[in-house]
Amino acid sequence: MLRLYIWGYLNQVRSSRMLERACSRDLEALWLLRRLAPDYRTIAAFRHDNPEAIIGASAAFVQFCREQGLIGGHTVALDGTKMRAVASPKNIAGAERLARDVAHTEREIAYYLDRLDAIDDQVARGFDDQPAHRDAFSRAVASLQRRKNRLARRQSELAEREEKVIVFGEPEAKPMGYAHAPKLPSYNLQSVVDVTSGLIVHYDVFNDANDSHLLHPVSLAAKEVLEADELHVLTDGGYSNAEEVARCETEAITVSAPIKRGAMNTEHFRPTQFIYDEDSDTIRCPGGHTLRPSGKHTRNRAIRYRTSACKTCALKPRCTPGAQRTIHRLYDQGALDRMEARIYADPNLMRIRRCTVEHPFGTIKRMSGGGRFLTRGLRRVKAEAALSVLAFNIIRATNTVGTGAMIGAS
Ligand code: SF4
Repeated sequence: MLRLYIWGYLNQVRSSRMLERACSRDLEALWLLRRLAPDYRTIAAFRHDNPEAIIGASAAFVQFCREQGLIGGHTVALDGTKMRAVASPKNIAGAERLARDVAHTEREIAYYLDRLDAIDDQVARGFDDQPAHRDAFSRAVASLQRRKNRLARRQSELAEREEKVIVFGEPEAKPMGYAHAPKLPSYNLQSVVDVTSGLIVHYDVFNDANDSHLLHPVSLAAKEVLEADELHVLTDGGYSNAEEVARCETEAITVSAPIKRGAMNTEHFRPTQFIYDEDSDTIRCPGGHTLRPSGKHTRNRAIRYRTSACKTCALKPRCTPGAQRTIHRLYDQGALDRMEARIYADPNLMRIRRCTVEHPFGTIKRMSGGGRFLTRGLRRVKAEAALSVLAFNIIRATNTVGTGAMIGAS
């Protein structure tokens, strides 16, 4: 059954009904299954009931490739992509939208009840000339009442889960999207690709759209998979979280990524024009004055630097609209500075990252209907991602060393 699924994911045949049909029509599937023709329920049950075993099979193939010396394992590229969950965007709702829908449904119920009262009046006066309308209105009221009850159940579910928004029908998915694009019910697929071989050495699926908190856990998991003493992770600006980069450093994981900066204020001196001196823990401003630590911003994990020289500074109009310029330096800014220095020292690193990690996503999305999962719930979605990753790795390894070498090694 695993053979059938891997074949299916390689050939964009992922649904259990399509796989059932392939078992009796497709020569490759007939050969793979030795002419067995399982029912679609049996096929679906395998993927549904064995997520951990499927994930284990994908991980075992990575270990097999390591044993064959296919994986370099010193430098990897990390990136994430959003994959659509099995849920309609219409099923995304928060408290405000549910309250609006309940009010709208109540107005509709009131409208039909008024119409029914009018018909009852007619009947009381001895006229019953709209029996068809009366039945239709009664059915509409019953249907609207069911909708109102469903909305009430959703409101209680939302209150119980203490979340702002829920994807009803697939509550583990979250609305995700890029920039101003519509937010669709999705999961966040993270993948770590070996730069030498192009094989995916580790993947995971999260229902958190924000990549910046995933740098340390995903990199550490990849390091453990590779059993490496040190690991160099190439990634993009979405992961430039100072705290995460510093945590990676403590685990002998070196991160190279550009620093993500907010919109630049071009009217005033930019923060990069303020030079930090590590020995004295001070900052030199463009006016040549020294800013010293003057308190902490605990929520942002940053230290404030200020100078009293701002009061009489001739450059103040170009520096700040306020009484005094404040520069915030993150507790772990040193880790970000070291990371940025690596990028400046070797600009080629970002080209390597792009070429390494974006190609597997393209292939996986093509294999999975444009990046859509077919199963529900995080546990099963992880198994589905494992099938895509396994299919990708098999084809990648086979293309690298050849089918004969792969069969011989196994
Ligand atoms: S306003 Fe303050 S921080 Fe800005 S240049 Fe003048 S002294 Fe330096």
